[in-house]
Amino acid sequence: MTATEIKTAVITGGASGIGMAITKKFIDNGIRCILIGRDQKRLKEACCNLGELAHCIKCDISVLSKLPDLVEDISQRFGKIDILVNNAGIHLKKPFSEVTDEEYQKIILTNQVAVFSLSREVAKKMVAEKKGSIINISSMASQYGIPQVIAYTASKSAVEGMTRAMAVELSPLGIRVNCIAPGFIKTEMSSRALLNDPERGRKVHSRTPLGRLGVAEEVADAVFFLASEASSYITGVVLPVDGGNSIGF
Ligand code: NDP
Repeated sequence: MTATEIKTAVITGGASGIGMAITKKFIDNGIRCILIGRDQKRLKEACCNLGELAHCIKCDISVLSKLPDLVEDISQRFGKIDILVNNAGIHLKKPFSEVTDEEYQKIILTNQVAVFSLSREVAKKMVAEKKGSIINISSMASQYGIPQVIAYTASKSAVEGMTRAMAVELSPLGIRVNCIAPGFIKTEMSSRALLNDPERGRKVHSRTPLGRLGVAEEVADAVFFLASEASSYITGVVLPVDGGNSIGF
């Protein structure tokens, strides 16, 4: 494979949890991955372990003013961007009436507004190539009401709406936009959310027909499918990867 044939993917939060599984899946399939995150040490460790197809850039995506330069820098260094995975996200579990405006805005900024801004900048590059695939990561929180996650739920619901709005504008230009709604997947984030809440843990299991939490690799497989030519006629969908949690009773 020549350097120009190698696809390039930008994966926010690509150095941990679900993002790391996505990165590994892409690298196993010969895709160059640019990992974005705030934790320089974690990024460096990930890149060392993943080999020469992995590159990391420290960037806080909630600082929106940095995103145009970030995308320009990636384009200059690696050429075209074929795939964007908007995976980075933060969570806040707190009773509705105790959530401050600042806390609410921080979640919305990271999980929603940054997805818009980064996608816009990357889409400008993809439009020039007349192709690309953008994959957003939402959550079961957008499918039904989960207590104590008001800001997270709002942000992820917006991500699903944005997926459809982006798909209708960008697909005629050659860019497919899809979304994955993971169910309850074993990662640091979900462990924190389920920790000290055995009742919620029991509920998750009881309404998941496959009877277990998912693993990050199962989300990565679905992201890889949506990034690949195997899904060339799919755009604007929200695909649950949830062991049936969203249809469980
Ligand atoms: P993790 O907490 O393991 O990973 C989140 C990643 O996002 C980290 O790598 C973090 O990197 C990055 N990140 C957070 N904020 C920023 C920021 N401001 N700028 C750049 N990077 C940032 O979570 P998961 O792997 O569990 O979650 C990944 C995605 O999947 C999230 O969008 C989450 O909402 C979603 N999801 C997860 C579920 C689960 O059960 N685990 C269920 C449903 C959805 P760093 O700290 O270096 O900035």
